[in-house]
Amino acid sequence: MRLHWHRTDLRPSDNLPLVRGDDPILPVYVFDPKVLAHAAPPRVAFVRDSLATLRSWYRARESDLLVVRGEAPAELARLADEYDAETVSWARAYSGLGRRRDDRVADRLAEMGVESRTVHDHLHHEPGSITTNDGDPYQVYSYFWKKWRDREKESSVAAPGADRLVDPGTHTPIPTLADLGFDEPEATIPPGGYETARHRLNDFCSGPIYDYETGRDRPAADATSRLSPHLTHGTVGVRTVHDRVVSAREDAPDEAAREAVETFRGELAWREFYHHVLHFNPAVVTENYRDYENDIEWRSDEEALRAWRDGETGYPIVDAGMRQLREEAYMHNRVRMIVASFLTKDLLIDWREGYDWFRRKLVDHNPANDNGGWQWAASTGTDAQPYFRIFNPMTQGERHDTDAEYIREYVPELRGVAPDRIHDWHELSDAERRRTAPEYPAPIVDHSERREAALAMFERARGERAD
Ligand SMILES: Cc1cc2nc3c(=O)[nH]c(=O)nc-3n(C[C@H](O)[C@H](O)[C@H](O)COP(=O)(O)OP(=O)(O)OC[C@H]3O[C@@H](n4cnc5c(N)ncnc54)[C@H](O)[C@@H]3O)c2cc1C
Repeated sequence: MRLHWHRTDLRPSDNLPLVRGDDPILPVYVFDPKVLAHAAPPRVAFVRDSLATLRSWYRARESDLLVVRGEAPAELARLADEYDAETVSWARAYSGLGRRRDDRVADRLAEMGVESRTVHDHLHHEPGSITTNDGDPYQVYSYFWKKWRDREKESSVAAPGADRLVDPGTHTPIPTLADLGFDEPEATIPPGGYETARHRLNDFCSGPIYDYETGRDRPAADATSRLSPHLTHGTVGVRTVHDRVVSAREDAPDEAAREAVETFRGELAWREFYHHVLHFNPAVVTENYRDYENDIEWRSDEEALRAWRDGETGYPIVDAGMRQLREEAYMHNRVRMIVASFLTKDLLIDWREGYDWFRRKLVDHNPANDNGGWQWAASTGTDAQPYFRIFNPMTQGERHDTDAEYIREYVPELRGVAPDRIHDWHELSDAERRRTAPEYPAPIVDHSERREAALAMFERARGERAD
């Protein structure tokens, strides 16, 4: 008999470690306090919801998902002993922390003579399988993408048959958020579960994917897949997503639609690129990927950090994004780039503060993508935005939210204000601002001044100036 340890693979089908082999399977999920120490209410809520759906799937097949609390090595050892399991299977982790945890579990099981079967599942191509001709991991996405794009991909696999599933003979409840030591999330969390993921994927691939090229940079259009929580928590398998995307490409009505599908595939490749970066550089979760000659002199400014977190900076597109995050535990990609640039290049605050806030607030947070995004914006990452390319938050707002639809959705103080006034907010006098939207704050910094200060900060870090 085999225990299957579900982690970020909260689905029955297209789950390689679950289905491989022909041994009877008993599924288990462990709420480990060491993992929960890095978690936050939005993600725990999503996981609970997804576990309930997964458990129903097992129960409909006369099995059940065991849900236990405790440190994974001890809990899995206890269950292996109790159920006389010969093997424990799970999908391999790629972060430094995740790999160390996997090793501890495997060591503990080995002491008892229980086999650990770890399977590569979470990405199409395992770290180390796409490298430069010298065998080194890629530091530049465009070269990685070319190989990723052309490399053959495995197809999705079916769920295990009911005849392979074991009935544990007991029902274990899913602990509440309070049981686990979390408050209710402030945001409305999207529904979890493998069925929701499948619908989301099908809806997106049946139409919106063909407009992805143009729509993805317009936050008001809601033209992206919103699959990120599902890919993060594994309520959908990567092979299922890719198979569906490839079939959408085959059905594409014209060349432009085919190109849009290819652009979407490129985003899936970014996800894998950042997982490879994290695998080979586990320290990036706390350290700059890229070394500068001197330390970057980030500023400590609690008041500005608070304004950024609360969406009260007086820069409408930034505030709309931060409020979307607070309300939905999600933020549109274009706006993530803008708010990350604003924190690091306008407020001159360390990207680690932003990463930490996103870790606490995003339902789709995973260290690989979140860190990749932050270090890109802060010009400290692999293949990052050059330090001298600094987003202007006003022109970004005007270009990507021209009619201020997105801004007005999330910033009610600006609802009655014309788009051109919103995009010129920084240029209005205090009196004009008071007349136009008295509840909305004036910009907390002057972008042009801060741009100069950011350039000077990076030039000092590069050893190009001393003042
Ligand atoms: C500062 C910052 C922080 C971010 N933090 C996260 C995070 O914690 N978790 C996360 O999944 N994504 C993160 N991203 C990447 C991206 O913003 C989200 O994946 C995307 O907005 C999710 O919406 P979607 O599923 O509709 O994306 P789509 O546009 O529909 O893309 C499909 C999938 O491709 C992947 N993807 C898309 N864009 C990127 C990207 N730039 N980098 C890596 N993968 C990508 C995601 O898995 C996404 O679900 C971050 C980006 C930035 C700039």
